[in-house]
Amino acid sequence: MHVIQNNYAPKCAELAEAENSHGVFYGACNFKCAFCGMANRGDRGGDISERLIELTKSGLNFKFTGGEPTLDRRLPDHLRLVRSLGGRIFLDTNGSNPEALGKLLDENLVDVLGISVKGVTPEEAERISGRPRRLSWENVMESVRLGLSSNARTIVTLIVYGDSDAEKRLEQFYGLFRDSGRVYYKINSLFKTRRALASGLTKMDEEKLWEEIQKWTERHEDIRGRVIFVPNERAVHEFGEIRFC
Ligand code: SF4
Repeated sequence: MHVIQNNYAPKCAELAEAENSHGVFYGACNFKCAFCGMANRGDRGGDISERLIELTKSGLNFKFTGGEPTLDRRLPDHLRLVRSLGGRIFLDTNGSNPEALGKLLDENLVDVLGISVKGVTPEEAERISGRPRRLSWENVMESVRLGLSSNARTIVTLIVYGDSDAEKRLEQFYGLFRDSGRVYYKINSLFKTRRALASGLTKMDEEKLWEEIQKWTERHEDIRGRVIFVPNERAVHEFGEIRFC
């Protein structure tokens, strides 16, 4: 686990004026995603309470991410501490652990919940995550359902890779959550991590993907205002790089 001050640009249009989020990273992950650049980056251990308290002096946004944060038994205490200090809590998860997530949501410890979907079909999710369907699909859908029935804003994220089938994949992504409620859709371009390159995944041209996303939102008026595009690595840290439609 490690902590980085003011690391992440906010991914919600309404937070445009808000400061970046501090990043709290938990190293372990139970997935082996083909494009991952984040998992198992080690755990420095130790008590980070003092550090969290110190960070509130330079901003109240905190993003808890990984790895997979819900695997770490310290997470609930960290969230409670940040909440008690008036912090705004963003939590990223791969959605594999709805039991732990449900408890956090029941305690109202999450303001913005980001759930990454590893594919638009169960088969793709299994293949990309390297984990069985129960973890990589059924639990993820249950986590989305929990998010949508809580007070947290729920963002589902899909990484689009390859060149040929973006339109079809976006339609499938829309179809997954069309009837679920007020989900926010985040599309990430593939980042050129070592694992992505080794897996043979390719990055779609950013502007072509943006065109497809805009056409997608024109076809589905109901999602307008709820689509977020992260076109490149810079957008992770720079709000000006993120696009909304
Ligand atoms: S869920 Fe996948 S992408 Fe996220 S940290 Fe784990 S292995 Fe990496």
